[in-house]
Amino acid sequence: MRHNFAVARAHARAAGGAAAVWAVVKANAYGHGLRRAMAAFPEADGLAVVEFDMAARLRDWGGSGRILMLEGAFDRHDVAQALDSGLDLVVHHDEQLAWLAEAGSDRTVRVWLKFNSGMNRLGFVGEAFRRAHATLSAAPAVAAIGLMTHFANSDLPGGAEEALARFAEATRGIDGPRSLANSAALIDLPHVRADAVRPGVMLYGGSPFADRSAASLGLRAAMTLESRVIAVQDLVPGDAVGYGSTFRAERPMRIGVVACGYADGYPRHAPSGTPVAVDGVLTRTVGRVAMDMLMVDLTPVPSGGVGSRVELWGETVPVDAVAAAAGTIGYELMCALAPRVAVRAED
Ligand SMILES: *Cc1c(COP(=O)(O)O)cnc(C)c1O
Repeated sequence: MRHNFAVARAHARAAGGAAAVWAVVKANAYGHGLRRAMAAFPEADGLAVVEFDMAARLRDWGGSGRILMLEGAFDRHDVAQALDSGLDLVVHHDEQLAWLAEAGSDRTVRVWLKFNSGMNRLGFVGEAFRRAHATLSAAPAVAAIGLMTHFANSDLPGGAEEALARFAEATRGIDGPRSLANSAALIDLPHVRADAVRPGVMLYGGSPFADRSAASLGLRAAMTLESRVIAVQDLVPGDAVGYGSTFRAERPMRIGVVACGYADGYPRHAPSGTPVAVDGVLTRTVGRVAMDMLMVDLTPVPSGGVGSRVELWGETVPVDAVAAAAGTIGYELMCALAPRVAVRAED
């Protein structure tokens, strides 16, 4: 995670840039552990989360830097917490404006006014954006106003251009720091680094691009999901494997039964053929993933057997490759790591 942060920082500084780097640590740091992330990113200019209880924990643990609430306040109580704890709030709808406007001036917050640049999830457009800015400017509790948007398509070539043009048009003539870039934009689009960038998945060694590996971006896997072979079966041609008998042996083969399943966060949708490594050797899964187990082809690993180490994802098997096989993205697999998995931190 430290290595990946340095990669993000290098992108932010490329060509003389000086964008602040906010490390996105929402969703338990994409499954990596919030506390661990806080320790790994001491050089971040701020941390960004969605959950107010997690912001409280960061403060409890001594985190005194800036914390950005990516979806802003969910109710008045959150505004009070932001005032008490010095959190930066995204502002994306009228109720949030009203909660801020009615707060007194004894304590202040920094806010980031969100522009809806085409994703149509959060944010204001057109005149509403300018009105919201005027309301915030008049609110005694608001100390500073940043301008922010989030791209729908920055992972696709040219995908951010229209959103960028809309943002430039909407914010023309308005002062304040600008924040636009997620991982994909930070890596690919030097002209959108602006004043603050918000990398998430790249910090954990995931690629934001469907067609480029994390390794090709200089990133390293932060999470390794590993288990062991707990049983071996010798199959004869025609033998089936697992629920639904979705895999049948065409020739004699040895398979390993691995203690890992969808209750651990391994995707049930991963079909036969999903990459996996046994004792460091690349092979494939066979049969349907079950709650507690999945099966692997031991043909390329003749020495493999009970006790063999199995890497479900990590340095040898990119999480993005497993995700692609299962029809999803690495982000989802990282975030879905289940509570029952024992986590061991390594330096
Ligand atoms: C999650 C999130 C990010 C980080 O996106 P990545 O693709 O993981 O880099 C950035 N900005 C906002 C608003 C987000 O919600």
